[in-house]
Amino acid sequence: ENKHQDNHEFIFRSKLPDIYIPNHLPLHTYCFENISQFHDRPCLINGNTGETFTYAEVELTSRRVAAGLDKVGIQQNDVIMLLLPNCPEFAFAFLGASYIGAMITTANPFCTPAEVAKQAKASNAKLIITQSAYVDKVKDFAKLNDVKVMCVEDETSSEDVLHFSELTSADESEIPAVKINPDDVVALPYSSGTTGLPKGVMLTHKGLVTSVAQQVEGENPNLYFHKEDVILCVLPLFHIYSLNSIFLCGLRVGAAILIMQKFDINKFLELVEKEKVTIAPFVPPIVLSITKCPDLHRYDLSSIRMVMSGGAPMGKELEDTVRAKLPNAKLGQGYGMTEAGPVLSIGLAFAKETIRDKIRVHAGPWEICIRGSQIMKGYLNDPEATENTIDKEGWLHTGDIGYIDDDDELFIVDRLKELIKYKGFQVAPAELEAMLISHPNLSDAAVRIDEAAGEVPVAFVVRSNGSKISEDDIKQYISKQVVYYKRLSRVFFTDKIPKAPSGKILRKDLRARLAAGLPN
Ligand code: AMP
Repeated sequence: ENKHQDNHEFIFRSKLPDIYIPNHLPLHTYCFENISQFHDRPCLINGNTGETFTYAEVELTSRRVAAGLDKVGIQQNDVIMLLLPNCPEFAFAFLGASYIGAMITTANPFCTPAEVAKQAKASNAKLIITQSAYVDKVKDFAKLNDVKVMCVEDETSSEDVLHFSELTSADESEIPAVKINPDDVVALPYSSGTTGLPKGVMLTHKGLVTSVAQQVEGENPNLYFHKEDVILCVLPLFHIYSLNSIFLCGLRVGAAILIMQKFDINKFLELVEKEKVTIAPFVPPIVLSITKCPDLHRYDLSSIRMVMSGGAPMGKELEDTVRAKLPNAKLGQGYGMTEAGPVLSIGLAFAKETIRDKIRVHAGPWEICIRGSQIMKGYLNDPEATENTIDKEGWLHTGDIGYIDDDDELFIVDRLKELIKYKGFQVAPAELEAMLISHPNLSDAAVRIDEAAGEVPVAFVVRSNGSKISEDDIKQYISKQVVYYKRLSRVFFTDKIPKAPSGKILRKDLRARLAAGLPN
């Protein structure tokens, strides 16, 4: 019956005072706007090597990279793909692209050659910047499609491969004069959103400036970053959560950004002591692994003033454990979605004894929608998917179900959309279904999350007449084509996939079957 009530009653606005958002500025200009206040302070610290770049160095290198990109033929509105783990070159390439009005699309370097090719093709990437270890993944595609490949290491010797030093050695005075419009796209992460295959999410200069401003321009000293902070950057920069909420936010405030290529608990603990990390942004599985580490007490972790968790739900139990293990640290939770730019809400998780039945639900649960300059401009070359996600009034539909309590705190309780998130990474059922259906021995398929087994994908498949294809065959068939976190954990054989008359898979039925332990 809630549907009949006036919608406007359920529009929530932040109680924080309004802020000035200079979102007419290009993203790099906004990020470096206050650089004179922290010119000589560390900006990027490479956790692997200890190498440190000051703000002045990062700004200069980024401008050289911008001039270098122009020299290798990248123009305004061209797309550059970064197939990189966290490294300083990621930062330089992103900022360099911003200066010349180019766009950056990012992909997980563990993706298979087919996955990389799909995204590079869909985004019309002109240049792929990667590490030597991944050059083989892109070589064939690049050759066939006349795409340039660049390697961040100098020692790779292959005549077809460009080197990053060709960018960093360019003359910064030769940056081409481009006029950047606030609505120009600067970042193009891929996300499947509420339905279907991964799509290019167009995030503009204006959108990202707005989002960063919403996160850093405020007075709460516990929550907001400041220039004395040392922010750990171990979450992959190829995901927008890390790129925006760690890297761009860190730059804007003048903090030191400590780059770790991959999470290693001992290395992390050493780095916290050595570099006096103050902010530790994570996803819940990493938070969990830290709380379980038996060596925790052997390190001085008192510099950490805030542990942030985002990308996936963090339960109350885990929150409590973190509080017990890191008593000096405040705990923050971020809720985001790539399409929302990505941050929807951010808050300190107060030890508000939220015994569930004490919470008075103010509104909901309903689908969470968000509006504002920070959300995506739309999906690249996909007006239909854009229209299905952002309604006529400008509301972005998240596909998440939640409610707001009396303190205006947001709780996410369920997901309406198909999306599966494994340790913060997206798994789009439609992508796996398309692969399964194209197998000659399968006539139909549906993929769903197995909630009991964690957020892992399981498949329901219908064999073609007479086929004896096994669960293992199907699992291997998928594994060969996808990055590790999209692998099927189980396959169930069934006679029929439950579908609505429209042909839409009835995912709720599959959920019920799994829950009842009767998947067949
Ligand atoms: P992505 O676009 O990859 O960032 O995935 C966005 C989705 O992840 C959201 O729509 C939510 O379903 C989920 N998500 C992100 N952060 C949280 C959170 N703090 N709590 C619950 N779900 C989350």
